[in-house]
Amino acid sequence: MNNTDLVNNMLFQLIEGLGKWKRDLTIIPAELKKGHLMLVKLCLEHQSPVPSDIPSLVRLLQRPLIEWAVPMPAAIPFPSDAPLYIRNIGITSEAMDFLNDYHSPYESHQREVYQILQYCRNAEPQLEDIYRKIRTFLSNSNFSIITGARLHQFARSFHHPILAEHIFACFEDISNRISHFRRCSRCGWTLVWNGSKWQCGQEGLCGKITAQEDPQPLEYGGESVFRLKEGVHRYTLTPGLAETGLERRLTNKGYEVEMYPDVDRYDLAIRVKDRTYHIDVKDYKNPYSLAMYFNQLDSSSLDKYREGHVYIVIPAYRNKLTRQYIKQMRIWLEPEWRKVLRIVNESDMIRILGGAAK
Ligand SMILES: [Zn+2]
Repeated sequence: MNNTDLVNNMLFQLIEGLGKWKRDLTIIPAELKKGHLMLVKLCLEHQSPVPSDIPSLVRLLQRPLIEWAVPMPAAIPFPSDAPLYIRNIGITSEAMDFLNDYHSPYESHQREVYQILQYCRNAEPQLEDIYRKIRTFLSNSNFSIITGARLHQFARSFHHPILAEHIFACFEDISNRISHFRRCSRCGWTLVWNGSKWQCGQEGLCGKITAQEDPQPLEYGGESVFRLKEGVHRYTLTPGLAETGLERRLTNKGYEVEMYPDVDRYDLAIRVKDRTYHIDVKDYKNPYSLAMYFNQLDSSSLDKYREGHVYIVIPAYRNKLTRQYIKQMRIWLEPEWRKVLRIVNESDMIRILGGAAK
């Protein structure tokens, strides 16, 4: 194993371990112990201070990689300015992206959503319309917390029992925990108390886009209540809001837009005169993580971006929250992909379509 693979594996063990630990604080997971030992070995090799026990390890993991005082290989797919862990919250958004991109081969989806995608793609004929309905449902802020009765009604409405099970698997029962949560005014999902304020997801993204004004406790009068699982919230609902927001903007401008065309080959298809534009919305907190995501794809996975009129659109709020997001990302992209990928922000995309419509 070369140095990059070793560090990758160490980060994987640490992040997996931290994730499991958060779910059950009574047991220190084997992955966390293994990652700890790998880190100790690395520190000793470089004569850096050693995190000798789990509390000092967890303190270190709350600091960005660049402060760990061990040299990291240039090619690791984790941004050096990000930590692995945030107190009271859990693993960071960057750590979640790392797991999702490198250790779960599900085309950027969470396993649960990928099962739905596979089911709809493999059906004869393909269930394109049903897939679109389910994706749109999972991207709707009104349903990210939902009563058991409403969820059952939706899942059973397609008369595909296996598909219904896949839809249930995207949610978890929070009936016994609703007093721990508030509702996010932007995405409708659960807010948790981070020690100083109510926060949505690891990144607290919604709070950066829309102020969370005095969130109220959840009231369901004893009904069973479900919420989207954390990964589905992060990888389906959050980008889904950006995708449907862009769809709305374009539809209001009079364009003909189709969501998730060809059972999710792209996020949006827009017809302008006799030409079709395809868009994939990529919603990563860190431009480095997004560049690394593309860099690790094999050439055939990038084929869909080589076709004419295919664009990667970065949501407007990413450009606002991170200065020169696209410029930074392009610096880290492999030169070959830099030539292939057309990466634009939302207003550029609207300009491009406007030009084509004239
Ligand atoms: Zn939210």
